[in-house]
Amino acid sequence: MSYSSQPYEIIIVGAGAFGLSTALHLLRQGVAPSAVLLLDSQPFPSIDAASNDTSRAVRVDYGDQFYVKLAQRTIKAWRDDPVFRPHYHECGRLHAAIPGDRHGTTVRKNLRALGIETTDLQSGKERGSLSERYPGLNGRMDRWDLYFTPVGGWAHPRDALIAGMAEYQRLGGEFIGDTHHGRVVGNIMQGGRVEGVRTADSSSRRASKVVYATGAFTHPSLLPGLNTQIHPTGFAVAHWRLTPEEQETWRNHPVVDLHHHGYFFPPDDTGLMKMGTGIMGFGHGSAQTKDARGKISAGVAVPRANSSLQASRHEDVGKIPAMAEQAIRWILEQMCPSLVKKAIFDTKVCWDGMTPDGGWIIDQHPDISGLYVAAGGSGHGFKFLPIVGEWIIETLGLLHKGDVANRLDENTKEEMRRKWAWGRPTNMEVHDPSVALQGRPVVDLETAMRTRGVDRRTPGVGAKL
Ligand SMILES: Cc1cc2nc3c(=O)[nH]c(=O)nc-3n(C[C@H](O)[C@H](O)[C@H](O)COP(=O)(O)OP(=O)(O)OC[C@H]3O[C@@H](n4cnc5c(N)ncnc54)[C@H](O)[C@@H]3O)c2cc1C
Repeated sequence: MSYSSQPYEIIIVGAGAFGLSTALHLLRQGVAPSAVLLLDSQPFPSIDAASNDTSRAVRVDYGDQFYVKLAQRTIKAWRDDPVFRPHYHECGRLHAAIPGDRHGTTVRKNLRALGIETTDLQSGKERGSLSERYPGLNGRMDRWDLYFTPVGGWAHPRDALIAGMAEYQRLGGEFIGDTHHGRVVGNIMQGGRVEGVRTADSSSRRASKVVYATGAFTHPSLLPGLNTQIHPTGFAVAHWRLTPEEQETWRNHPVVDLHHHGYFFPPDDTGLMKMGTGIMGFGHGSAQTKDARGKISAGVAVPRANSSLQASRHEDVGKIPAMAEQAIRWILEQMCPSLVKKAIFDTKVCWDGMTPDGGWIIDQHPDISGLYVAAGGSGHGFKFLPIVGEWIIETLGLLHKGDVANRLDENTKEEMRRKWAWGRPTNMEVHDPSVALQGRPVVDLETAMRTRGVDRRTPGVGAKL
């Protein structure tokens, strides 16, 4: 069936953190609900969304003061906004780095310059007091450069997304989350401007502005010329379940981040604890694509949707490569050896759109009027859910007038436009390995799945509780 829906002013494609926050803030800014349509290719919350998980770090610790200040704003929103507050846990963050790592030094300098408390934990006495306060952290840890920041903690992304969607719909917002009616497969073009989108059910949905907030799925076929500015990258995550006694021990522990190696969270209410690996990114395929004008984008990787895993296209549904599980157990060995032998409850590879410099891409398309992108979360975008929509609206100029602008000074707005601009070097153009994909080696997922890990007779592998 092919039909034209009513014309909207703005269609937002993708109901993850970036798209949902934009839709919600448009309505909060007084835009008529009938002017906005939010689409997603999956029932909500999307199984494919990076924003749909059990925990995400909310940290102020950034090497760039610009993001420290944005993170301060978002933490204020997590604390104050009644929609999101119930899903935020301010337990602080323990940062561990290899001694001499410049990133940790820069971050601490940034935080102190902005008056954010951080405590170095270098001496044996300081580390001892850490283990006393947080008895689950009983590893030797003496090989690490450690500091603690009480500001920040973690949020429950799935629950926060659901709360954000409930608020959007309470305000009258329209949402379609469906593999046919919500999945966008093409743009409706009229000369050099976009006039809406086509969905997989062959419907035309018309709007004068289309914003792609499609995370790792942001692709040149919908945004011609995007090329490899956004590179879909998968990261391994695993859960295990604590016993009630262990849960008691781990209650109120901070989020622990071993810089670039991985991170783990305190348990949620059900006793599930999560860890992810940081250094190891997975890629999937890489092909030339041709847009409608015949322009070729080279080497564009595609994310491996978790939703299609359900359709048994890949036999390794819900599995992670052995090397990733080994990395997880190695981290536990460093920080909390009592958990090393835990049976893994479940695992998955979770995909985000990465940019070489870690900055998002929030901009108008350079050649097609009415076409916009808000993606490239780069492994750190979720924490901004309560507020990033305001910045997207401002940076893209989606409102004719509104009070969003008043909350940001001109320098910040200018910096946002510059840092999130379309046309920064792609990963094909950045050859400095410390910059390209933020220093992460990207391993082909299929190859990694076939590669057996080093046999260290790790107990519990693959077992379920
Ligand atoms: C393993 C991992 C750990 C992370 N840890 C943290 C952390 O601790 N803290 C933090 O702040 N951030 C973290 N991030 C990053 C953060 O999760 C992402 O940057 C953020 O969630 C991205 O949001 P998004 O809205 O851009 O994309 P997504 O949440 O991926 O949403 C994109 C949406 O677009 C939909 N979509 C795709 N294609 C189409 C289409 N054609 N038509 C319609 N809809 C479509 C998808 O179904 C999906 O719902 C992590 C990311 C990963 C992968």
